[in-house]
Formats: sequence, structure tokens, C-alpha cells
Amino acid sequence: MNLVSATPASIDRAAALLRDGAVVAFPTETVYGLGANALDAVAVARIFEIKARPTFDPLIVHVIDDAMLGRVAAEVPDLARALMARFWPGPLTLVLRKAPEVPELVTSGLPTVAVRMPAHPLARALIERAGVPLAAPSANPFGYLSPTRAEHVAHMLGERVDLILDGGATEYGVESTIVLLEPVPALLRHGAIPVEEIEAVAGPLARELPDEAKPLAPGRLPQHYAPRTPIRLTEPSEVPIAERADAGLLAFRAPAPGYRATRVLSERGDLREAAANLFRHLHELDAIGVTRIDAQPVPLEGVGIAIMDRLRRATHA
Ligand code: AMP
Ligand code: MG
Repeated sequence: MNLVSATPASIDRAAALLRDGAVVAFPTETVYGLGANALDAVAVARIFEIKARPTFDPLIVHVIDDAMLGRVAAEVPDLARALMARFWPGPLTLVLRKAPEVPELVTSGLPTVAVRMPAHPLARALIERAGVPLAAPSANPFGYLSPTRAEHVAHMLGERVDLILDGGATEYGVESTIVLLEPVPALLRHGAIPVEEIEAVAGPLARELPDEAKPLAPGRLPQHYAPRTPIRLTEPSEVPIAERADAGLLAFRAPAPGYRATRVLSERGDLREAAANLFRHLHELDAIGVTRIDAQPVPLEGVGIAIMDRLRRATHA
């Protein structure tokens, strides 16, 4: 069994494996990551293989301090420094000019590298003991629901991963927010930190890049984060009772009658709680064997914007 609870001993073992080119799943504050030594192209290639991820989709590199940042980024503009001072460690990814040591596979051949400094103590301990930056996408098959618990990883990727460190449920439940600094400050992905908090520090962020900079924003696929069961966004009140019997409901605050299975994101209507529950509830509804999942929209504010981004991509036909 490759699923172990995270203890100082298992973290040491995981760190040794990573130094040897292995692939280890570990918790971060966003979702579980599938990590390998970011400076070892062969190890990174295994991440793509395990996830069946297309190589045009670059990875995020996780660091724990300035020295490690300096190994992967060639340059850190002032605006990036200001954002790091406010949001690192935490769920903000910054796209910076890459250092030569970072393999092309990590960045899909781009001149830039996406970097973040996680806050999760287990992620930090693992990176510290490994002594190398970790390239780590979410620990799920490409395009499928992200994992917010170690069991999700075990269920989806099983023995293909060398080791899965179990550190319990993740805090945010949605991926990091991604910001590009140059040629213009731009939001590349809605995520755990609401964009308005970032704009309070950075000023307005472009939502669309100028045409000549579009290649700098790869991997933003319209279909992503999807369960196997067909899913659509709909208000339950608009679904006739007769069409609910075989379906599952992902509700925001309250169940609706007639559904075969229901999961409520947050009874209190708390969007952070809703985000933390999002993928777990979708994993559960997907496993029940309903014929369809009806997902109720959540308010488009704060982290609700990231939730709706995930749901829209999950429902994209
Ligand atoms: P994830 O799938 O959560 O690991 O996030 C990776 C995403 O980060 C990719 O799909 C890209 O959208 C984005 N990304 C990674 N590296 C870069 C980069 N060098 N430039 C722009 N976006 C990047
Ligand atoms: Mg992912």
C-alpha cells in the first residue's frame, strides 16, 4: 500500500524518494499535488505520464524560501515582490521569467515558470527535506476532479504513484490563483485567493492578454475539473420533479426534494466552506452512480468566482 499518514518518518522517506526521481502525492492548502523534483526532467516526465497530461500544459513549481525561488526564477519584478510579501506563503502562483536550470518540460518550452510558495506545513516540510523545488500539478488524471483528500488520490491514481502522504482534507479545496506579471499584469486563473484581494495590491489585472502574449497563457482549457457523470449547472427549482429521481444534486445551501442523492456545499452559505467541500462532494456524487449531476450556481463573489469557474469547466460539453 502506497498510502501512508504523514509523520516525520514518512516525510523523510518521501523526501528521499523525491531526491531519487520518484513521484510523491502530498497535501497543500489548495488540493493534493503530484510532486517530483522540478529540476529533474525524467522525474517530471513521470508526472505527465501518470496524469496523462498533455505536455503543452506547464506545471507549477513549489518552493519554500527565497533561495529556492532564486534557483527557478531568473528575475523577480517589484510587483511580484509586493504580491509575495502579501500572499506568500499561500495559494497565489506567479508567472516569472525562468532560470536556465528549469527543464523545458516543466514550462512547456515557455520562457517563464509558474511558481508558488505553499503554506501547508506538510508540503513545506517535504520540500525542505527534499531540498529541491517540486513541480506539482493536482494529483488526478488530466481533466478529472481535483483531489482534496489522500483517498481521492489513492482511488484515482492508485499504485502508479510511488507514495501518497495523507495529511487530511485540504483547507481551500480549489487551486491557486495564477497571476502573470509581464508583459502586462494579468489574471490567468481564478483560484483560492479572490482576485479583488490581489488587485488591492497589484492594481487592475487584465483578464485577457493581448494577442501577441496569448501563448504565455497555456493550459486554460474550457473543459476541465470534470466528473465522469454528466453534469450541468442549473437551479434545482427549474428541474421538474420527474427529472430528479435518477439525478444527484450539488446544492449551495439547501437540498431540494426528489433527488436520489444530494450534497450541500455550505448550509451557512459560506463560500470558503463551499470551496473546501466542492471536489469532495463531486467525487462522492460521481461514485454513487447517478445518471446526471445538477450543480446549483453559487454567488459570483470572493472565492465563489473560482467555484463557478470550476463548475463551468466541469459542465462544458
Ligand atoms: P495545475 O494544473 O493546477 O498544476 O496548474 C497549472 C496551470 O498553470 C497550467 O495549466 C497553466 O494554465 C498555468 N501555468 C503553468 N506554468 C505557466 C507558465 N509558465 N506561464 C503561464 N501559465 C502557466
Ligand atoms: Mg489540475
